[in-house]
Amino acid sequence: MTPSLCTACGRRPAVYRRRASGEALCLKCLERALTKALRRGLASLASPEYGSKLVFISLRSSPIASSGAAHLLGTLAKKYSNDVLVVGHPDAADLAAGLIKEVVKERPEVMYVNVSSLEPVPGPVSEARAVAEAIKERGGVIAVTPITATDILLDSLIRLMIYGMRPCECALPRYLVGDAVIVSPWSRVLLTDINAYVALRGLPIVHSMRAFAGVKGADKVKNLVAELERRSPETIYRFVKFLQAVLLSDRGIPQNGGFSPSLW
Ligand SMILES: [Zn+2]
Repeated sequence: MTPSLCTACGRRPAVYRRRASGEALCLKCLERALTKALRRGLASLASPEYGSKLVFISLRSSPIASSGAAHLLGTLAKKYSNDVLVVGHPDAADLAAGLIKEVVKERPEVMYVNVSSLEPVPGPVSEARAVAEAIKERGGVIAVTPITATDILLDSLIRLMIYGMRPCECALPRYLVGDAVIVSPWSRVLLTDINAYVALRGLPIVHSMRAFAGVKGADKVKNLVAELERRSPETIYRFVKFLQAVLLSDRGIPQNGGFSPSLW
């Protein structure tokens, strides 16, 4: 049987089917799609200038997406001549710096941050928020996280179902920590797409922390979200869109008969 061809370029053999869109992609077109999401998300959320400094928040609790994002940010930084500063726990930061160096041929500046506690939700969304504290006094900084739609759903469900807490403002695609702008351009991309990309590319990863370790009941929520990724990815997009709209409306934009904070 001959392998089917990529539905985007029609030339190379397809190696991955995106569940959300049904497209069968070759590695190059998958890379293009993820880079485009990163570039578009960045442009619409923060408009980094040509040659400006990009900050990357590498996450120990999300090692695969951190590898994928570091690699692709390296290609963007090379193209737009951005300097990069990598911030994060030493394990995560060194890995990301190494991946970016492979692309731009120069080791980026690195700032190590040891976050002492990620209570109560020890996962990527909280980790990014906690790491961002280290750069909050740097004015005009745009920091990119590798957070995906899947991470946002997982974090919000764990907060709601296990802790009875409202979702965090850090689930938004853009928020401020002091003077720094934190953006998550992949907040509408599924983690499963990034996982596939990193595996197909053979990018290195460092597992030094298991997300949501020790959170009682988190495995059930993780299984539910994994099942949604497989069988109903559009539900994840809808939920994240809804959640972000609620969080934005709670920021003080007047609402009449819309979402209510008591919803949570
Ligand atoms: Zn292709």
